[in-house]
Amino acid sequence: MVKITFLGGCREVGRSAILIESKTGDKCILDYGVRFKEKTRLPQEFNMENLRAIALTHSHIDHSGALPYLYKNSSVPLLTNPVTLAVTKVLVKDMIRISDFNYPFGYRELDKLIKHSYFLENRQRKRISDNFFLTMFNAGHIPGSVSILIEVDNKKILYTGDINTNATNLVEASNFNILKEIQEIDALIIESTYALRDHPPRKQLEKDFTDRIINITENNGKVLIPAFGVARSQEALLILHKYQYLGKIYVDGLARKISNIFLDYPESLKNGNFYKKALKKTKFISGKKGRNQAKNSNGVIIAPSGMLKGGAAIDFVKSFLIDPASAIYLVGYQVEGSPGRVLLDSGYLEFNNKKKLDSIYNFKIKAKCDYDYFDFSSHADGTQLRKFVTTLTFKNQSNNVFCVHGDPKATTKLSSELAKHSYNAVAPETGEVYNI
Ligand SMILES: [Zn+2]
Ligand SMILES: [Zn+2]
Repeated sequence: MVKITFLGGCREVGRSAILIESKTGDKCILDYGVRFKEKTRLPQEFNMENLRAIALTHSHIDHSGALPYLYKNSSVPLLTNPVTLAVTKVLVKDMIRISDFNYPFGYRELDKLIKHSYFLENRQRKRISDNFFLTMFNAGHIPGSVSILIEVDNKKILYTGDINTNATNLVEASNFNILKEIQEIDALIIESTYALRDHPPRKQLEKDFTDRIINITENNGKVLIPAFGVARSQEALLILHKYQYLGKIYVDGLARKISNIFLDYPESLKNGNFYKKALKKTKFISGKKGRNQAKNSNGVIIAPSGMLKGGAAIDFVKSFLIDPASAIYLVGYQVEGSPGRVLLDSGYLEFNNKKKLDSIYNFKIKAKCDYDYFDFSSHADGTQLRKFVTTLTFKNQSNNVFCVHGDPKATTKLSSELAKHSYNAVAPETGEVYNI
């Protein structure tokens, strides 16, 4: 009997954490992330006795943010890969630095985590205890992202992490259904972020995006692309490069740092050379002077944060909003209530920053510029998730499926739909324990 305890990431996107326990009590943790709600930012705690390893699917902080907490009093190996560790280091450091929340860990624990990291190649089977093995496979979500196969007491559990079965310009799509290691599993733990939606056809979307940008910049306008610094900024850059956009492209904020890290790990990219060429044509903004220069050119500025909640994009946004010739094109999912979502729904952008009373950070402006949303998601959509489940084979028709990492509607709808089709599917709640 293998025990699975869901410590977070249940009916929510945030603080993903799963505990797997063998019949002899050996334990392994899959992800240990944070969420940005109220005070319960961290996953549930657990007894760390006999913890043999921690495995990380990717660097996004909803999966990695709380990992340092586990290194307060332990020194177990963190199984990961070089690019994931490098980006995690930057993101967690940044999270600690800018947060108002007092995390129960700091840089010391982060350093300890780095010291205890152990790199695994994809498809390399790692033994962590008696009859307890972990294997990672490309998940196609962001550079370095993996899904994890856990083999324990002769049971096979597959945890997708965040997964994309759709090819992007930055990373190869996940295609591991065809690998024989993954067949005849006993349980699947699957993300459900986009279970209720399908993405628009990618090729057309990329073309529309570039055409609109060319149109704006050829008519003396400029385009702001607020994008998440990890992967989405670089994906936007690659799309512009692919469609041979010849104007100026500037990259600012966290996106700069992450872009350079990806350059150091070309093996984690779909096409390292293509990426290198795209970066060569890009100007990295530094300092106030650089920002002003970018603002005054009719080019494209790619800057976090993706939902206009803060980051470098805020330094630019006002000058775009008041300019009818310019545009703001959002390229990532906009959570309900986020400034980006409010802009799309109401045409107004409102920004209140209690820390900075400057008028750059406190305003409500009706957008005169063009604004739109392009769904360049790095997650599988509803149809792809369902296809993913049905392509897998389960041992003895066990068909155990756990739907996690999605809002309550997405996780429960996916699980109840699968349940109607002979799957033993549930959307677990935080703290629930399942034996398989
Ligand atoms: Zn992610
Ligand atoms: Zn995630």
